[in-house]
Amino acid sequence: MSDAPTGKVWFVGAGPGDPELLTIKGQGLIARADAILFAGSLVSEAAMRWAREGCEIQDSKGMALEAITDWLIARAGKNKTVVRLQTGDPGLYGALIEMVQPLDAKGIDVGVVPGVSSAMASAAAGVESLTLPEVTQTVILTRVAGRTPMPEGESLQALARHRCTLCIFLSMTLLKKVQRELLAAGWHADAPILVVHKASWPDEEKIVHGTIATIREKCQAENINSQAMIIASPTIGARQWPALKKSRLYDKHFTHRFRKAEKKQETTS
Ligand code: SAH
Repeated sequence: MSDAPTGKVWFVGAGPGDPELLTIKGQGLIARADAILFAGSLVSEAAMRWAREGCEIQDSKGMALEAITDWLIARAGKNKTVVRLQTGDPGLYGALIEMVQPLDAKGIDVGVVPGVSSAMASAAAGVESLTLPEVTQTVILTRVAGRTPMPEGESLQALARHRCTLCIFLSMTLLKKVQRELLAAGWHADAPILVVHKASWPDEEKIVHGTIATIREKCQAENINSQAMIIASPTIGARQWPALKKSRLYDKHFTHRFRKAEKKQETTS
């Protein structure tokens, strides 16, 4: 028999906050976990409502990376099913690989369950579409440099030149810098910006609409300085646009795999 542990560590995306936005797979894993380590600062404890009695549950708030991986290794090493519950999707700003490598080194099996990212939840909160035909078909998920520097070519100013949708994480306290870089990239001071604080959190969500020029003041007035997504996009506010280019997906003259186009009426003039 091999000595390799048979326990497994699951990195589960808890979603943006509302426990109902956890996936069914994530819920199932929470329900059968022997041990759950959750990222306390953001993940709603309510997600723990499905944990079985006797499940060891711990908040990782205040634990450094090594303490976290030691905790996971100790339990998985005892052949337990261990869940590391992370905010949004584990693959976005979640230190996933830093946690996986020490587990790999111990031969512990790892699985990842994706989650609804706060970028998607924020767009949903504002009833916004991140893409629109002939406006933008591209979304960039990014942040501005804080203590973590940005790799070369990834300054907000450089990315903003694409004039596509920018979902800006981890940058609420750097809103001034966001404003400055968007303007430097040629965006108009009147360009719309959406900020969503605690997207999807029952009773705590705040939605702020502004422009590059006004957004900082508006967020200050709402006392928002953390846990917020900044969306800068030429699609923001499209719900109110009188004229919209329609998506070809639902165009009756456009054939795709599941639907045949209707013949265009001959027009005689
Ligand atoms: N993995 C997470 C992101 C973690 S980084 C995800 O996929 O969403 C933490 C940043 O995510 C915060 O600074 C904030 O910008 C954003 N964030 C997380 N939860 C949020 C929420 N409920 N509403 C708005 N922004 C949120």
